[in-house]
Amino acid sequence: MYLFSMKSAVQSFILFIFCIFLSCSAKNTNRVLLISFDGFRWDYIHRANNLTNFHRMISDGGWAVKGIKNTFLTKTLPNHYTIATGLYEESHGIVGNIMYDPVLNSTFHGWLDKDARDSRWWDNGGEPIWVTNQKQDTQHRSGVLAWPGGLAVVKGVLAYRTESAFDGLTKKERVDKIIEWFTDEYPINLGLYYEEEPDHTGHLFGPDSKEVLSMIFELDSLLGYFFDKLEDNDLLKTTNIILTSDHGMTSTPLDAEHKINLDDYVRVDSYSITSKNPVAGIDIIPASKELEDEVFKNLSRIPHAHVYRTKDIPRQYHYGNNRRIPMIIVEPEEHYWISFNGSAGVLGEHGYNNSLASMHPFFIAMGPDFKPGAKVDTFNNVDIYPLMCTLLGLKPAPNNGSLDVVSQLLIDREGSDSTTFGAYILILLLIALVGGLFSVAACQVHRQHKRQLRSISSFSLLHSFRYSKSDRMPLMSDSSEEEFGDS
Ligand code: AMP
Ligand code: ZN
Ligand code: ZN
Repeated sequence: MYLFSMKSAVQSFILFIFCIFLSCSAKNTNRVLLISFDGFRWDYIHRANNLTNFHRMISDGGWAVKGIKNTFLTKTLPNHYTIATGLYEESHGIVGNIMYDPVLNSTFHGWLDKDARDSRWWDNGGEPIWVTNQKQDTQHRSGVLAWPGGLAVVKGVLAYRTESAFDGLTKKERVDKIIEWFTDEYPINLGLYYEEEPDHTGHLFGPDSKEVLSMIFELDSLLGYFFDKLEDNDLLKTTNIILTSDHGMTSTPLDAEHKINLDDYVRVDSYSITSKNPVAGIDIIPASKELEDEVFKNLSRIPHAHVYRTKDIPRQYHYGNNRRIPMIIVEPEEHYWISFNGSAGVLGEHGYNNSLASMHPFFIAMGPDFKPGAKVDTFNNVDIYPLMCTLLGLKPAPNNGSLDVVSQLLIDREGSDSTTFGAYILILLLIALVGGLFSVAACQVHRQHKRQLRSISSFSLLHSFRYSKSDRMPLMSDSSEEEFGDS
């Protein structure tokens, strides 16, 4: 009886230890929510002190104090696809919001639904995080809300949940939708959320306008709405939230000084233009092939602009090795803009060189895997893909990013690895200790039991002879049976 209860106690203990062991070795299962506020320049966060929710994220999480460096061309679709894949634009193939592909003999327009869904534009070797997430774990589901590329099948995989950028939903309705995806019977573990502002207002009124400032406040309260919704659904503590953007914004005065009128330098019928503002992508039309040198020479006369033949674009642009990049690039200096065929300008622009601070977006992240109050100076937006892979326990596809800097924002994984290792050792020691104690106890019980039997035998022998012959005689085999039985 005593032995039996001892055995079951040890069994329960081992089961308990096994559960701890399993939980120690379980993969990280925290959710990831990636939010982009289009055109949110890195220093917008300093435009007011009372931006409650942005500052809550900064104090509770990690922050790139000087923003992050994006990729050239600093435009919307290319940089969102860079964030999603960790690749430079020349490597993932979305080199503009508008681009011509000579092999497809077709022009891509970012805002057309048919192009947003056409894999031929998006499936060019890059692997967006929503695909990596679903490919590596059948329990993983991704939800992509209005994020560029999210409507296309890439590497044979479509995100489990998708929503077009042109769905007509309000900002809050988009939040509700993504929360619904996280709380569904088959919930997503990765969500990407895109919002058009403050880019739109920044173009219309310029980055330093009061209109942009009030949009920043609106986005701060949208972030608060996000937090409330996550909290109400018990998701806030287990969700890593990454808040970032694709690019910044600079002012583009409409005066004659800052306007570059292309028609003053080249004949309209000698070239075709794909994207034009602020950087112009120019192809020489085949009929004027012999004029290529002349067109290039004329464009090179433009003041306040750098003009490159694609093959000569400096390596640090990472913007040369793709057939979709136009033959000639006209890259104005900051604040200068291009007019073509009489086209009008706007008060704010982006697309300029990615080494300009004004082109850099912000980055803040908060959640169970981020160190509260952690700060780094800056890093590259190609690093966000491997960061998300780490958070989701995924092996990243080949990419141009690195964890060198971003890992400083995370709770020390190496430390927690060694803690886990220490826990394993402790558990093994406990098992050995309990096993040892059990053996010692069992031996003692066994010895005691044998001693009792021997004294019963001698007692019975004596008494059987003395008192009654009819009493059952103890068999010698009784004790030896016991002995064999227990040994
Ligand atoms: P830009 O500021 O010129 O680089 O482009 C910003 C515009 O890109 C936005 O105003 C949207 O209209 C458009 N856009 C944003 N997200 C998407 C998307 N997922 N697919 C296509 N176009 C988009
Ligand atoms: Zn943008
Ligand atoms: Zn824009």
